[in-house]
Amino acid sequence: MSKRWKLILFDLDNTFYSNEHSWEHGIPHAIQAMNYPEAIEAEDFYRTFKQMTEELLGAFERREMNLTEYRRERYIRTVRHWGREVEEEEADRFHRHFASKVMEFVKPFPMLLETIKALSDEYKLGIVTNGPQDHQHQKIDRLGLKEWFGEHNMINSQQVGMSKPEPGIFKHALEKLGGEPETTLFIGDSWEADIVGSMDLGMDAIWINTFMKKPSTEHKPLAIIDRFDELLPLVHRLKQGRS
Ligand SMILES: [Mg+2]
Repeated sequence: MSKRWKLILFDLDNTFYSNEHSWEHGIPHAIQAMNYPEAIEAEDFYRTFKQMTEELLGAFERREMNLTEYRRERYIRTVRHWGREVEEEEADRFHRHFASKVMEFVKPFPMLLETIKALSDEYKLGIVTNGPQDHQHQKIDRLGLKEWFGEHNMINSQQVGMSKPEPGIFKHALEKLGGEPETTLFIGDSWEADIVGSMDLGMDAIWINTFMKKPSTEHKPLAIIDRFDELLPLVHRLKQGRS
């Protein structure tokens, strides 16, 4: 059966670029800029910082802490791992280094620009992303996608006050972009947030399984690919009903 989508919605982190790559490469520079008196291995720091981020992200998304508190707390908890008890000033200083260094390593996946360009000729496009608004816009800028994504079509959990997979954020996106679930395709890397969230609302979904994970539910997306550059030919095949 051929598909007649009008709207294509994307996730951002780990769908358009590798967030892990940017952190892994950015964090050593951020640590270097901090000039710690004790020896802190970048790899250990990355692992601990990532773990603290995962632990605290939910509280931030539930608005139990604001963005500044969340960013300070994940740093304070990270360096506690090395027995350091630090003031907020140091956490803020780290965040400034971290944010600017990590952003330098935000690199588009192969075929990103070409794919977005081609799809924008045929479909209305949008992004639904969990994450702080300021960063998500900077990433779009870094990825060279400003022409296609901006305030009007980037739906952000911080702004909406709900995060994927909550149905509310998907409904908000459809309302804002004038779409219907039946004619919308969602593309993302997170099974729980992107695939389960969008499919539960009646959208079609394509899973970009960049981490080679196993699905945690029985949902059946239209297709599963493991690299972004497989997306454009796949969408064309699905549209023509050949897949
Ligand atoms: Mg993602």
